[in-house]
Amino acid sequence: MRPKENEPLVTTIRERCRVCYTCVRECPAKAIRIVDRQAEVIPDRCIGCGQCVRVCSQHAKRVASDVDRVVAGLARGVRAAAVLAPSFPAEFVDVDYETLVGMVRALGFALVGEVSFGADLVAHQYRILMSHNQNPGKPYIATTCPAIVGFVERYHPNLVDSLAPIVSPMIAAARAFRRRYGDDLRVVFIGPCIAKRGEVATTNDRRDVDASMTFIELRELLARRGIRPDNVTPSDFDPPHGALGALLPVRRGLLQAAQIDEDLLRCEVVSAEGQDEFVQAIREFESGEMNVRLLELLCCDGCIMGPGIGQTTPLFRRRAQVARYAQWRLNRLDLTTWEMDVASFQDLDLSRAFVANDQRIAPPSEEEIRAILERMGKKALEDELNCGACGYETCREHAIAIYKGLAESEMCLPYTIEQLRAAYDQLTTSHRELASTQEALMQSEKLASMGQLAAGIAHEVNNPLGTVLMLSHVLLDEMPADSELREDLNLIASEADRCKKIVAGLLHFARKNKVEARQTNLRELVDGFTRLLQLPASITLKVEHQNGEVSADIDRDQVLQVLTNLVSNAVAAMPGGGTLTLSTCGNGDRVHIAVADTGVGIPPANRKRVFEPFFTTKPAGEGTGLGLAVIYGIVKMHQGDIRVQTNADPAAGPTGTTFTVSLPRKRDTAGPETGSAAS
Ligand code: ADP
Ligand code: MG
Repeated sequence: MRPKENEPLVTTIRERCRVCYTCVRECPAKAIRIVDRQAEVIPDRCIGCGQCVRVCSQHAKRVASDVDRVVAGLARGVRAAAVLAPSFPAEFVDVDYETLVGMVRALGFALVGEVSFGADLVAHQYRILMSHNQNPGKPYIATTCPAIVGFVERYHPNLVDSLAPIVSPMIAAARAFRRRYGDDLRVVFIGPCIAKRGEVATTNDRRDVDASMTFIELRELLARRGIRPDNVTPSDFDPPHGALGALLPVRRGLLQAAQIDEDLLRCEVVSAEGQDEFVQAIREFESGEMNVRLLELLCCDGCIMGPGIGQTTPLFRRRAQVARYAQWRLNRLDLTTWEMDVASFQDLDLSRAFVANDQRIAPPSEEEIRAILERMGKKALEDELNCGACGYETCREHAIAIYKGLAESEMCLPYTIEQLRAAYDQLTTSHRELASTQEALMQSEKLASMGQLAAGIAHEVNNPLGTVLMLSHVLLDEMPADSELREDLNLIASEADRCKKIVAGLLHFARKNKVEARQTNLRELVDGFTRLLQLPASITLKVEHQNGEVSADIDRDQVLQVLTNLVSNAVAAMPGGGTLTLSTCGNGDRVHIAVADTGVGIPPANRKRVFEPFFTTKPAGEGTGLGLAVIYGIVKMHQGDIRVQTNADPAAGPTGTTFTVSLPRKRDTAGPETGSAAS
């Protein structure tokens, strides 16, 4: 019933992880990486300390469990012993020790023992190691804590040789129990530790321990089975009982149990616990700065603070609870029996070897670090805020972790805020662009439907109008020169003529006319046009031909009409005089003509309407409102487009209007008109 060796100790519950980076920050092994917006534990790097489990406010870390296998084994009638870690008094404060033993027994365990006897045996080994050292002066790191062992094997493989070659108290206890109660006995360790499960899975090929459970799991199991203090028979632990080994879960407990006198060793023993201290202590130990014989390390603040404890009592109260139990145990201990017990296991093999499991990743070069920092917008030293929001102490460390594939740039809060701002700006810009394109589209659709209507009317009106025109001219010819009806007939003919022009304009707008395209040089066209142009004296004319070839396939007459209409509007917009500028330019596959004036400008409300047929701001009789509509039709027939830039507000700068017509050099005679709409 042992756990599988490659089963990850800790995994992330996807739905719960809110990616706060707390676990990244707190993991002493840097075994957590952010992948797909999830804090994922990397099994090979994980030392099982359970720090991430403890600090996760979302309870998003799941610890692998042996409980189901244990329950199944007990149900099958497997003969098993539960051995309780010496930190149990820190968890079970609400029930006396003997009642607790009775409750565990009620689960179906044949035996309930204490790891502390194993701790006594192990402490004895440390005493031997320190006193009869084969290599005098060789420093050792204590190996009672599996997370510390895992850390050294993975991140300080050079120190594997310095790991005290002694099994953990759990293994020692299991071996002692098996020897005493038979080799077929199964052993279940119950303690405050997650790393123990890893130790059970990986280290003991002799099958010393079969499963590992936490105190939290024990509590849950007791509750599930309805086992309460009032429905069990209290009893003591099964022997062998421990003595000072009961102190192992607190700082310096091992030293006390081994009766290693610190003074005797001239302060050559250093104890450290908690992740900050132990990481630092190992680093100093490796660099040789630490002149010690024994480094006693516990990963949590002592096992009493292990992640498998469900209580929230503070550290010193827990220490007191453990000490109280040790006192209780020592008071009842028959010293002779204990000494005989220890002696009877004198020949028990408690040695252990360790293997390096190098998980170090070669650090990046200075240039690589700089490149990563720059990608996060940290170009200068002052950009490195070292705010720690990413879970790393400095921006440099974060960059190194990115290089190692353990972190992402997005974990940098200032960088992400900057990215978000840029994305937001882009979004609003493209939203604005989208809105204006949409507006232009609606505008062109509106003009197109107007065009259809206009074309329909023009078509219907054209024939009767032709008849009126023809007959009025016939009548005029036949009319005696002195007839008083002549004047009326003249009026009929000229008004019909005006109608004919309007209809022609509408047909232009509706793009119902043909384009007689010829290769034309726009520069020559504009020059020819301006030569015949008659302008009021108050208006100055400027012609600007920019560089670039300006030939295109166009209908000369139609484009001249465009120029005529644009110029007449420009002149009308400058009643007090001004400057009229005609310019040409060509680039790529397009040519452009612009007509600019310094006139009154078009107020925003009119801007969308100027191309509509019959829209005019001129007094009746002066404007038909067809000029720009005709231009629009002609430009579209040429597959071009026309844009207007204008300012009518003197407060916002010089007023005036520029119409720019862009035409393709070559017309696509087969395809549809392509130019975008006027705006
Ligand atoms: P019309 O000239 O007969 O009024 P158009 O279609 O040529 O008809 O022009 C429509 C309207 O657009 C004009 O009445 C005027 O309000 C405005 N407009 C056109 N060109 C200009 C310009 N260069 N400056 C100011 N307003 C203009
Ligand atoms: Mg006009």
